Amino acid sequence: MEIIRSRSKHYFLYLLTLVLILILPSCQKKDAVRIPDLRFTPGVYPNKDITDGPFVFDNGNWHTVKWIEKNSTVIEKTMNEENSASFEADFGFSYDLVNAFLDEPFQIDYVQEFSNVKNLVAISDIHGQYEIFISLLRSNNVIDEYNNWSFGQGHLVVNGDVFDRGKRVTEILWMLFKLEYQAKQAGGKLHYLLGNHEVMVLNNDLRYVDSQYLSTAEKLGTSYNELYSKRMVIGQWLRTKPVIVKINDMIFNHAGISPDFVDQNLNPEMVNRLFLENIIDADSRTIDKDPLLDFLAGSDGPVWYRGYFEDDDGFSVVKLNSILKHLNSHYIIVGHTSMEGIKFYYNGKIIAIDSSIKNGMTGEVLIYKEGVFSVGTII
Ligand code: ZN
Repeated sequence: MEIIRSRSKHYFLYLLTLVLILILPSCQKKDAVRIPDLRFTPGVYPNKDITDGPFVFDNGNWHTVKWIEKNSTVIEKTMNEENSASFEADFGFSYDLVNAFLDEPFQIDYVQEFSNVKNLVAISDIHGQYEIFISLLRSNNVIDEYNNWSFGQGHLVVNGDVFDRGKRVTEILWMLFKLEYQAKQAGGKLHYLLGNHEVMVLNNDLRYVDSQYLSTAEKLGTSYNELYSKRMVIGQWLRTKPVIVKINDMIFNHAGISPDFVDQNLNPEMVNRLFLENIIDADSRTIDKDPLLDFLAGSDGPVWYRGYFEDDDGFSVVKLNSILKHLNSHYIIVGHTSMEGIKFYYNGKIIAIDSSIKNGMTGEVLIYKEGVFSVGTII
């Protein structure tokens, strides 16, 4: 009798433990903020098996497309009529866009000046956070529910740092590639500016690359840097992108125009040219040896500068006014230095738009409509 009671007691304790094991984790989940690890969730493309890609290799007269399925299997296709047709079913955008870019690569526009722009949305430092990026663009009517351009003649500025930290960089790059084409067709424009993280990846500085991407490169039998080389369609496309853009009376730049920029009598056209011709793909020793390139690629240059927001940097209204006068502009809009949201400094003349999307929680965009600024959120 005693043995039976003891056994049933053990059985009861066993059941209780089992119930607690099952219940406790789900109770904890309610309180904890859940950030999904995207390596283990289905991809964002129509073909849910695709977990990274496409990587389009330009072989001159023909293209090879490679991608990863279910985090491990490498698929490789030579693009012919049949494979081109299935590309859209897999990735949700037409392969014709790739061909359109290769047939007629955009002329590199070093001047980057645009006027009479009435509607504009600007976003910065997306850092691989695809879901937040898409939610912000949808909430603010830049794209529709199918992720197609719905902003008409509006301009979308992506102020650098799409790369690194997050896990959906490839998908964002292709979304921007598609939106650039669609915006052009609609009379609008997408501006994708190079940030320090674009420059780092193109120059093979992989300090901040998520390990997932190093393993993608390994699976594809190459290096991460090679996935963005001149041989790749996205690599070619990135090498047409500016560092400084002027739209109406607004200067857009990833990190900021420092007083040294004025002292050296630089202008956006010169700097865009120097970045694309002398800094991207150059080795660091060559850059270090040239004082001008060293300044542009360094901590007071336009992709790294933080002086506007540092108390001990000696930045002032007087210096700001001289920079604005030099650039013939009224506003400088930068990302790079992370904020809780879109922030206005120096009487609204400096607008900081890195809204910490990188944290994977939420973010904001800057809206410009007929001369008035406002802040857009996810709704
Ligand atoms: Zn940055």
